Amino acid sequence: MSKQIHNRFYRFLSFLLLAAFLLGSAAGCSARREPVSRTEFFFDTVITLTIYDGPSTDETFHRAFALCRRYEDLFSRTREGSDIWNIAHRGDRSSVSVDPETAGLITEALRLAELSDGAFDPTVLPLAELWTEARETKTVPSPETVAALLPAVDWKGVYLTRYDKVLPSGISQEQYRTEYEKTDAYAQGKIWLVTLEPHVKGLDLGAVAKGYIADRLKEQLLADGVKSALIDLGGNLLCVGEKPGGNAFVLGVQQPFAPAGETAFSLSVKDKSLVTSGTYERFFETDGIRYHHLIDPKTGYPYQNGLMFQHEPAGCAMDRLNSVTILSDSSLEGDGYSTMCFALGPADGLKLAEDTPGIEAAFLFESGKVLTTTGFPYKAK
Ligand code: ADP
Ligand code: MG
Repeated sequence: MSKQIHNRFYRFLSFLLLAAFLLGSAAGCSARREPVSRTEFFFDTVITLTIYDGPSTDETFHRAFALCRRYEDLFSRTREGSDIWNIAHRGDRSSVSVDPETAGLITEALRLAELSDGAFDPTVLPLAELWTEARETKTVPSPETVAALLPAVDWKGVYLTRYDKVLPSGISQEQYRTEYEKTDAYAQGKIWLVTLEPHVKGLDLGAVAKGYIADRLKEQLLADGVKSALIDLGGNLLCVGEKPGGNAFVLGVQQPFAPAGETAFSLSVKDKSLVTSGTYERFFETDGIRYHHLIDPKTGYPYQNGLMFQHEPAGCAMDRLNSVTILSDSSLEGDGYSTMCFALGPADGLKLAEDTPGIEAAFLFESGKVLTTTGFPYKAK
């Protein structure tokens, strides 16, 4: 009797163990399932979201891409009715009502302008437009055309205020408030006012927008329960967590002027942003000069930064700076610093990156030389 009970007990136990094993491997399989990717096109950029672990449902992707649409509607410099378009087309008005998120991003751009003493400048809009057209027609604009736009570039002529903190002349605070609260802008939550001095033509947030959007996409994915993902905004990369199984993401840094996808080196990172600003994607070349999309607000021409070196028999040449890559937690900071450090050039840019906690930088030169901050986890290929 007791032997029979024993046998039954052991048979039951082995059944339980087998069931536990099967359940365990099923769970293991689902954790190791294939990543799911979706690609869409916003703000002139191919956007790919890849979810490795977490809900990769239509709704998750839909919510993420809806955010991209929202930010395109706020920050695009070419989309009629966006906050940035409204600022450039404000006519006689000195102030334009904008969304709090636009105001926040402008504040960040102005911070970088101050930090770089104007090497980074979000009022570069008219010059950025001029050089976009120059690239399309492959024609260098005349020095007079460039010089005529220089006075319009002046970040010190931009002010931000909340509508309830300003008092237009000849009206009481109370009256103003009552009137403002009847407007469409107020109904849409556009309660910040951007004021530009008349000589400033407009704003261009192209150097920081993608980083900001990547950070918001990450927040959205995390809120949806995603544990592991890669956000790719045209090469601006942001990891959500790590790869399933505790592995790092291996992210490549593009070799400037090599075929797309050919990397200079790669990094193993978890939960980080990796953003590059380079001269190799949007440029044309005439008489040995590269006219790219990063513009020096002081001269009006694309930056010609690099490292000077002596060469034999007697002379001096420049090793051109081709790209700056920033590794950071926040993609907004990474995007801003990659453009700003490029603008500052290798000497000042590298020093600023070295002195900023949480920012690591790599500067890539024409000769293949790579200069990095001391904490940059650079591994040669
Ligand atoms: P990408 O858009 O290629 O990823 P960046 O983040 O470096 O590159 O931003 C480049 C954009 O920034 C340009 O297309 C232009 O709109 C804007 N820009 C150009 N020069 C400056 C500058 N000196 N300061 C701030 N923004 C700039
Ligand atoms: Mg940038």
